[in-house]
Amino acid sequence: MTELATPPVERDQDVKRISHWIGGRAVEGQSGRSGPVYNPALGRQTGEVDFATREEVDLAVQTARKAFPAWRAMSLSKRTALFFAIRELFDHQREDIARFLTAEHGKVLSDALGEVARGLEVIEYCCGIPELLKGEFSEQASTGIDVYSIRQPLGVVAGITPFNFPAMVPMWMWAPALACGNTFVLKPSEKDPSASVYTAELLKEAGVPDGVFNVVHGDKVAVDSVLEHPDIAAVSFVGSTPIARYVYETGTKTGKRVQALGGAKNHMIVLPDADIDMAADAAVSAAYGSAGERCMAISQVVAVGDAADRLVKAIEERLPKIKVGNGLEADVEMGPLVTREHRDRVASYIDGAREQGADVLADGRENTPEGEGFFLGVSLLDNVTPEMDAYKDEIFGPVLGVTRVGTYDEAVQLVNDNPYGNGTAIFTRDGGVARQFQFDVQAGMVGINVPIPVPVAYYSFGGWKNSLFGDSHVYGPEGINFYTRGKVVTSRWPEPATSKVDLGFPQTR
Ligand code: NAD
Repeated sequence: MTELATPPVERDQDVKRISHWIGGRAVEGQSGRSGPVYNPALGRQTGEVDFATREEVDLAVQTARKAFPAWRAMSLSKRTALFFAIRELFDHQREDIARFLTAEHGKVLSDALGEVARGLEVIEYCCGIPELLKGEFSEQASTGIDVYSIRQPLGVVAGITPFNFPAMVPMWMWAPALACGNTFVLKPSEKDPSASVYTAELLKEAGVPDGVFNVVHGDKVAVDSVLEHPDIAAVSFVGSTPIARYVYETGTKTGKRVQALGGAKNHMIVLPDADIDMAADAAVSAAYGSAGERCMAISQVVAVGDAADRLVKAIEERLPKIKVGNGLEADVEMGPLVTREHRDRVASYIDGAREQGADVLADGRENTPEGEGFFLGVSLLDNVTPEMDAYKDEIFGPVLGVTRVGTYDEAVQLVNDNPYGNGTAIFTRDGGVARQFQFDVQAGMVGINVPIPVPVAYYSFGGWKNSLFGDSHVYGPEGINFYTRGKVVTSRWPEPATSKVDLGFPQTR
């Protein structure tokens, strides 16, 4: 086995303190509890983030509650203008946001810019909020009676987010929540919290009133305080499956609306008639991009029939070209893993797979860059079978498994038997088979010759099975529904006293 270097983590003199953001300003935590934040490319601690107490979460919620009446009363045209200002500011600052992501998450700068761009699309969608909130109207439902529907905000809503998209996933939540007239409390990942504080600063600069958007940092204590808080109406969660299940069960028990998106194991099926070069390019970018730390990463290729040898060879040929290193360097394509512990856990699957009978065609420990960063190169495992841990678990790192099957039916069966159902893809030139696949497959997001089918902002994002708890996907039309509740008004007005009042024009009634 190849050993990875595990030097002691060096703590810088100038480790910055990362505090909560409540009521339009930074608020230092009083709990005495905090967590380290690293620059994973340097393997060095760069920050110390405060962990909130129950009282600090309550302060954020009460602040958001106070800000709610004025925020929800702001006219749609004013809120729209504000959203255009937010869009402009975030667009202008996109590189600064991206640099926070590279510094604390480790993803390469181009990928970080891509994350911001996808988040911006959701903000742009929210600029159309007057159209999205339009209700329906039925005149003369009964004699003299009109019926109409309106959608109103819920109040204070909360978001709990994962480490792997520290800017975009919060945008999936706060943008539609605020656009609908709610106020917001964000509990970001404690591993890379700075982008959330920067988001708060930008929203203030754009003109969002104090108290409308708040950030509390922390761990389980903060999450439980959110889930149990009586003044929070709804919780959006994105993270791993066990925590998603816990958040859904705990939040709904206290009467909240909850959408909880969980983990994934995304399969990409490659049929014998596929364009093998296209499929190999797609597998490589979807498996190793962002070091495999994407919930829509392809972690398992299912090669059908004689596609297998050609595909594996084409993937292998591409691996030496992937440059691993510090994401701030221009030609680097893959950065480090988020923490040393996570890197070591991911690496343990390589030996595990070998011991369980897989062929290790590339071992990421043999191509890591020098230095103390949490690096792991790309790994490729062939002849992976469903009993192996590398198949069953969400590895969440740059490890791609290949499973060989004989037929399309066997391939679809594998995907459908998997407990996760986030994304999946098929590579083929046969339109009929592709259409059958979209009919057969049990997953929330399907790609046809597209490896990472993240929906555009005017559709909604979400998986099936253990990848989603609740019945609502995030952003897009389902996001607007999630953050509002419907009201139907039935109205009758007294007959106008036309005989007494001169309306100044002829009456036709
Ligand atoms: P995680 O579940 O460890 O953490 C997510 C959030 O939950 C964080 O804010 C964290 O502080 C909090 N948390 C962690 N442990 C907790 C506990 N015991 N009790 C209460 N709260 C707790 O996830 P992560 O490691 O930050 O992110 C990676 C995971 O997120 C992967 O499984 C990935 O597939 C998933 N993910 C899913 C999607 C999706 O859309 N389905 C998107 C991105 C990430």
